[in-house]
Amino acid sequence: MVILRPVRSFKMKLSIFNISNFRVDGGAMFGVIPKALWSRQVSSDENNTIELSLNSLVIETADRIILVDAGWGDKQGEKFFRHACLSGGVGLTGGLEQCGYRPDDITDVIITHLHADHCGGCFANVPGGGTRALFPNATYHISRVQWEWANDSNLREEDAFLAENIKPFEESGRLNLVEENGEICPGVMVKICYGHTPGLIIPVIRYRDKQFIYAGDLIPTIAHIALLWNMAYDLLPLVTIAEKQEILEEALRNEHILIFQHDPQAECCVLTETPKGIRAGVRGRLADYL
Ligand SMILES: [Zn+2]
Repeated sequence: MVILRPVRSFKMKLSIFNISNFRVDGGAMFGVIPKALWSRQVSSDENNTIELSLNSLVIETADRIILVDAGWGDKQGEKFFRHACLSGGVGLTGGLEQCGYRPDDITDVIITHLHADHCGGCFANVPGGGTRALFPNATYHISRVQWEWANDSNLREEDAFLAENIKPFEESGRLNLVEENGEICPGVMVKICYGHTPGLIIPVIRYRDKQFIYAGDLIPTIAHIALLWNMAYDLLPLVTIAEKQEILEEALRNEHILIFQHDPQAECCVLTETPKGIRAGVRGRLADYL
């Protein structure tokens, strides 16, 4: 697998915002890595949970305004969100507003995958039942592999694939099932991965002469750059490792910039070679790299 090279786009603006922080079990985020190691990099609370962000990306091209992932949304009940311990962030519509957009402006939403913290925000409950689209003019891009996988569901992911999040996409009539690696529009490519969940989309963006990789749940935080530091949520850890290795090696070689969806400290980093393998080099905010 080789990351396809997006064609340089004529005009582009990239923005990022954190919808909300949330907390998950630190052990689940680092799989087989002992807490004695991961706790040197990430702090946990008395319940062993760690804080994650929900960084969504907005890509404005000559004729499209593309949102990447939409967070949890608010369709589930108080008990559900009590476990997620939401805090901080600017919200989905708040974040868009901060970047200069209204929900109606969004022409496309790339849904990296259908786990609840990535897709739930596309639709909201309406009083009396049913849902409404937050982005009524948007086409939703989801990989066909992920769509079919999530609709079949499975015991392991049934808490992540929620019918109330997934059904409205089908009912919207605005679903574009992405068949393979390729271009969504000039400058915006998608690469399909299989280790975290089958059909995870990794958006790759060509901005001026730089390339940005939105690493999503393949490399959710800087700490997950190390090849063996993977989430226990990954269905196929060996596949995750191979996919990470290929992306990281190519990114290192070509000075591509990684964007992290779940790292509350760093939005982006470049990579550097160390005796232990590829690690984060200079890290910072997306704006520092534009
Ligand atoms: Zn996920």
